[in-house]
Amino acid sequence: MPRIFVNFFKKSIPASHVFAVFSGIVIGTLFGLSIPLMVLAHSERVASYEEVAAVSMVEDALRLAGRSSSEEEGFSYITLPGIQKYDGPRLAQSMPIETKEAWFSWMSRNRGDAPVYLEQRWEWAQNLVMTSELKRPEDVRAFLLTPREHFVRAENVKKGLEYADTWLAIGYGATITDPDIVSMMTTTLNVKPWDKVLEIGTGSGYQSAILSYLTKDVYSIEIIRPLYLETDALYRDLERNFPSFSVINRKLGDGYYGWEEFAPFDKIIVTCAIDHIPPPLLRQLNPGGIMVLPLGPPNRQYIMEIVKHEEEDGSITLSRRDVYNGQSVKFIPFRDEVGASYSAPVIETPK
Ligand code: SAH
Repeated sequence: MPRIFVNFFKKSIPASHVFAVFSGIVIGTLFGLSIPLMVLAHSERVASYEEVAAVSMVEDALRLAGRSSSEEEGFSYITLPGIQKYDGPRLAQSMPIETKEAWFSWMSRNRGDAPVYLEQRWEWAQNLVMTSELKRPEDVRAFLLTPREHFVRAENVKKGLEYADTWLAIGYGATITDPDIVSMMTTTLNVKPWDKVLEIGTGSGYQSAILSYLTKDVYSIEIIRPLYLETDALYRDLERNFPSFSVINRKLGDGYYGWEEFAPFDKIIVTCAIDHIPPPLLRQLNPGGIMVLPLGPPNRQYIMEIVKHEEEDGSITLSRRDVYNGQSVKFIPFRDEVGASYSAPVIETPK
């Protein structure tokens, strides 16, 4: 057996030992490298640089989530319905949806919808079930119960666009979201009747109206004062015929800071575009909770599902999923009180 003099140890070592150590280092390095490579290989498909940025911001948001936000916003309007909570989910369950006839006759007995809209809504919902993510019976029922014609602006109803497959302007630069996207985001939330759900961006009020047939605990925040007031008045007006809207707690304020008094929430839906997860919202999400939001730069977002997990040692991890498989969308910007869009917070690195 040849012996090799190894200067470091100041003695000679059998060549076989040197070979064993050397190959151990090579194999170890390769194996060590292969772990991150494996992780990369198993992570989600990355469609673009914007998506990479959006995804990395998830980590940034997570780091920030440990921080406290001292600049909690005040608010001047708030509508909290009484403690008698109308049971929208129970009503939805009692509604027959097996045939159009059964549904029609139930709706005309129990509600005041004009038949022309019932006709449209039924066909539209059937179409959504076939073409979109809308599959869960609870969600289908919520879509069948929510009168979209009341949440679309009058001029668009005149044009017959209330059940059109598109987003529509609702004034103040805001929009009522495309039904396909509403169905995708609602499906992702997987709302249970006992969930407490927070929406950021009340807008027309349509999304929260849908939620009021899935749970009795809905909270929604809007930042544009006249829009907040309009939608608040609309809900009050509709409550007589659609009592489930009375469970929607409304607030005029900046949704970036969530709604501390009622936190934590089981589900959070953000309906305005942002390039990072607002840390206060992440903090206000229950462990096991789901947040869905349009994440990305102003011109292009990805609809992300974020699930917050709390490990046994108390640490928080997030899992994420692009629910639209890399397809991008464009939402109204998530803005602050003076109208500036929020952008990713700067992470300070310790010196
Ligand atoms: N969910 C709405 C969609 C409205 S569009 C619907 O179903 O109609 C997005 C809304 O987010 C706009 O009304 C906009 O004013 C609101 N918004 C933007 N920034 C916000 C913020 N910081 N807090 C609360 N709402 C905000």
